[in-house]
Amino acid sequence: MLINVNKPYLPDPKKYQKYLDRIWQTNHLTNFGPLSRELEEKLCAYLDVKNLLFVNNGTIALQIAYTLMGLKSGDEVITTPFSFVATTSTLLWEKLQTRFCDIDKNTFCLHSDLLPSHITPQTKAILPVHVFGNPCDVENIENIAQKHHLKVIYDAAHAFGVTYKNKSIFHYGDVATLSFHATKLFHTIEGGAIICNDSAMIEEAKKIINFGLFNNYPQTLGINAKNSEFHAAMGLCILEDMDFILQERQKIWEYYYRHLKDTYSMQECNPHANNNYHYFPILFEDEGKLTQALERLNLESIFPRRYFYPSLDTLNFNPSSCPCPISQDIASRILCLPLYVGLTQDAQDKIIQLLK
Ligand SMILES: *Cc1c(COP(=O)(O)O)cnc(C)c1O
Repeated sequence: MLINVNKPYLPDPKKYQKYLDRIWQTNHLTNFGPLSRELEEKLCAYLDVKNLLFVNNGTIALQIAYTLMGLKSGDEVITTPFSFVATTSTLLWEKLQTRFCDIDKNTFCLHSDLLPSHITPQTKAILPVHVFGNPCDVENIENIAQKHHLKVIYDAAHAFGVTYKNKSIFHYGDVATLSFHATKLFHTIEGGAIICNDSAMIEEAKKIINFGLFNNYPQTLGINAKNSEFHAAMGLCILEDMDFILQERQKIWEYYYRHLKDTYSMQECNPHANNNYHYFPILFEDEGKLTQALERLNLESIFPRRYFYPSLDTLNFNPSSCPCPISQDIASRILCLPLYVGLTQDAQDKIIQLLK
């Protein structure tokens, strides 16, 4: 049996069918339908945030966030090289200049002490990532941003349900974005969200994701980033199962931790945050050991993933970037183990045995 790093969670199809019946009744398939509205309201309550806009993926959510922050072609954004490629590629796609700030070797998040040295007169924003759901130094980042009049955009794709000091992590930053891709903790098959405390800004985003239309008239430059009722329906089903999903993931996460904590180094988790059990990364001593382990696992049809590899400061389509040795080092020897609802203890025992 094939074991991948992730297996998308699927709810009871009967439950999904009930939502489909509603779509067939209303004939409202997309464009701000009732299920999308319901999902947004339920997500606001679940995540304890004021405004949330459901969009069609986490990548375009980032691009719209840059627009909302008023970023213009050529502006500089300081970001982390240790993330999924979309964190950087969206900046490049919007013709923004990336300036990489290296990471903390223990938390894997952008090292906020290094931040000030990267600020130039062209810097307009900071784009940190709560890597594997582990919150960044949000207070330090906020102070630096205020002092230098910079916007803060959090790529919070991994941070679904994370709280920091008993408050939603999404309360930090001017804007935060989420991904609801099938492989994420909570998903809508494809999807994402923009979270922003400023209600006027969310209204603006609502126009932008619908071609810039307001009362059917193109009022501002927009794009198509709406999501459909079928995707919202999946989200509504999965949101109902979140307690179960988290319980199962916690069991799997803790089992790995118990058996591997003495063999591997691991991410240092923020003591003020809760774990959402989204990923289980382990660090090898060097890349050679990682490659050997990966070969052993692959031979048994087990496919963990090298999240995140390569370090984004090494991308050949971003020649302007400055090197980040800590991120390059971590990226070369980190591996995320299979973690999903339905992963059996037998499978986990086999993975653990192959890693010892
Ligand atoms: C998944 C992910 C994205 C992209 O989200 P999509 O919904 O797949 O477009 C962006 N940033 C990070 C850190 C991610 O993990």
